[in-house]
Amino acid sequence: MAKPKVAFYWCGSCGGCEEAVVDLAEKILDVVAAVDIVLWPVALDFKLKDIESYEPGEIAVTFINGSVRLSEHEEWVKMLREKSQLVIAFGSCSHLGGIPGLINMNTAQQVLENKYLKSVSVDNADGVIPMPTNSVDGYDLDLPAVWNSVRRLDEVIDVDYYLPGCAPPPDLILEAVGAILKGELPPKGSVLSPAKSLCESCPLNESKPEDLTIDEFKRVATSQPDPETCYLAQGFVCLGPSTRSGCGERCIRANMPCRGCFGPTPEAMDQGTKLISAIASSGTSDTSESAASVAEGFVDPVGTLYRFSLPSSILKRGLKNV
Ligand code: SF4
Ligand code: SF4
Repeated sequence: MAKPKVAFYWCGSCGGCEEAVVDLAEKILDVVAAVDIVLWPVALDFKLKDIESYEPGEIAVTFINGSVRLSEHEEWVKMLREKSQLVIAFGSCSHLGGIPGLINMNTAQQVLENKYLKSVSVDNADGVIPMPTNSVDGYDLDLPAVWNSVRRLDEVIDVDYYLPGCAPPPDLILEAVGAILKGELPPKGSVLSPAKSLCESCPLNESKPEDLTIDEFKRVATSQPDPETCYLAQGFVCLGPSTRSGCGERCIRANMPCRGCFGPTPEAMDQGTKLISAIASSGTSDTSESAASVAEGFVDPVGTLYRFSLPSSILKRGLKNV
């Protein structure tokens, strides 16, 4: 019997999600034995025409990582959607917009100007900025167009499931592959990790007080957290209360507060506003001046609260004024 065809594709990706597949170590051999990999740009040399040759739905499942920013990304993911029975958004960038989504604080024009004209390391006296079409020595050259915003995968195509994380941990990947091969998947649209908050599985949960009191914000860059005590209770911003569990608490166990790569819990909807709400009710400041002084210690609120989810935020570009 023919093995199910599986594709891996990357859009605006750092390559970490591809590494996560390799992190399956020897277990990748079981996966390779059970499926027929038909696309994996980081590792295998398949061409566009190979995929174009497939019938609609001929690929059993396609895992797509990275955020969607270029016209080329859109063309590929639309084609893969047509050719695939299942599409899985793989990793934070595809699921939520991810770290590349922080660029949505700027327009595409601002980004291109900063990169090609204003950066101190740029020597570009003619002010050349990449264009989608150009003519050089009589030849027409095409580049992918850059959209104004980074988008999640499900803003561009229909997505069946989400594998969260930056990058998704090997155990979740194996569970997902096993569930697909056995036909034991949860309802369409599910995020393939537990529907509870990280605090519920956190080894420091017992030291998290019922009523939090935060009168000063601290940063791991300048202060050392106590590894035995809830980080939020110590004043380090930790997104555990508004973030989905399933990561194995890897950051917490490495003495690092949660940064939220698994995305919001089903109840939180928006990670940043949920945490702001929890923090806002935890201070003891009794004047607006002292509250403002505490808030000033919260460095980089957008990059902290929406490090992985700005394109999914209900505030989106309005956050520029936070
Ligand atoms: S989710 Fe993380 S590891 Fe995966 S492509 Fe995005 S930044 Fe890289
Ligand atoms: S706030 Fe962070 S450190 Fe505290 S219990 Fe939740 S996940 Fe753990």
